[in-house]
Amino acid sequence: MLERIEQAKKTVHSACEKVGRPIQIMEVCGTHTVSIFRHGIRTLLPDNLKLLSGPGCPVCVTDQGYIDVVMDLARRDDTIIATYGDMIRVPGKGGSLESLHRDNVKVVLSTDDGLALAKKHPDKTVVFVAVGFETTTPASAVAVADAASEGVENFCILSGHKLVVPAMQALLGSKNDKIDAFLCPGHVSVILGSDAYKPVVEEFKRPCVVAGFEGIQILEGLAKICAQIAAGRAEIDSVYGAAVTPEGNKVAWKIITDTFEPCNGAWRGLGVIPGATMRLKDKYKQFDALHRFGIKEVPTEEPAGCQCGQILCGLMDPPQCGLFGEKCTPDTPVGPCMVSTEGACSAWYKYGK
Ligand code: SF4
Repeated sequence: MLERIEQAKKTVHSACEKVGRPIQIMEVCGTHTVSIFRHGIRTLLPDNLKLLSGPGCPVCVTDQGYIDVVMDLARRDDTIIATYGDMIRVPGKGGSLESLHRDNVKVVLSTDDGLALAKKHPDKTVVFVAVGFETTTPASAVAVADAASEGVENFCILSGHKLVVPAMQALLGSKNDKIDAFLCPGHVSVILGSDAYKPVVEEFKRPCVVAGFEGIQILEGLAKICAQIAAGRAEIDSVYGAAVTPEGNKVAWKIITDTFEPCNGAWRGLGVIPGATMRLKDKYKQFDALHRFGIKEVPTEEPAGCQCGQILCGLMDPPQCGLFGEKCTPDTPVGPCMVSTEGACSAWYKYGK
């Protein structure tokens, strides 16, 4: 192991020295952000290599307007809100789900638990808070298909599911063209397939290297990226070859595309990105909470002073936010990046000192 670490470190240092200018690599995923801190990866890197946290924490990129819709639905007497635990403390305009102190807000561990709640409470409509990337979308798709086939009519989802690659393109195209390369998430890439990054490589000429979440995988991923930059190449590569194939998991994709279709949707910090949010197809419209409750638009509003949007675009580091560590801490989060354990602000607060 030590030999692999030394070799990767040597490659990173010699490549960065050869390039001779500042290099910025974005880790797309929040799990990478946390792992980079926990393994002390930054302490192994040369001064001219900076790592940026990207828009890969599902809670963090969920638009403020979506949170406000969840809150409105939670205030009704005819609903039960089924949500994963990390969404419960994200502040909306009028507080968080946790601060509502309502019995109809239930933390669940799976979409199956949400469906079970609907069967148990036929007099209420269960709204499943469906956020996440390609890794969690198949579970939402299965729950909707099961609800349809079993006739569970009081179940629906509020889809905030997102697609990673269009966000990377939007980021480079309109928000931050100073990103030199991407360290791509292992788990999402298992579903997506490494070929999915072709538009980023071909259109924007940025290396995309898939890595798992162990320290050595991250370091070796960075080494491959730096070697490409030094050689003037931009290619897809992977250090997670055992799990990631070029074409991805076709079964999971079929489940997703049978149920969902891409639409234009708002991302925190990135605004509306064409084709980067997933909505239910027309045949499953009755399971779409927006349709069920006649909600026409999801308005957008950021908490005052919060810089999550800038941070998610790699334009600033969390300590540069005026609220970081003072008004905004994990106990008193102002924005989602401090709530989620995968959020950049939370990671910097916990490990950055
Ligand atoms: S420190 Fe808090 S307020 Fe500042 S960007 Fe992060 S989450 Fe938002």
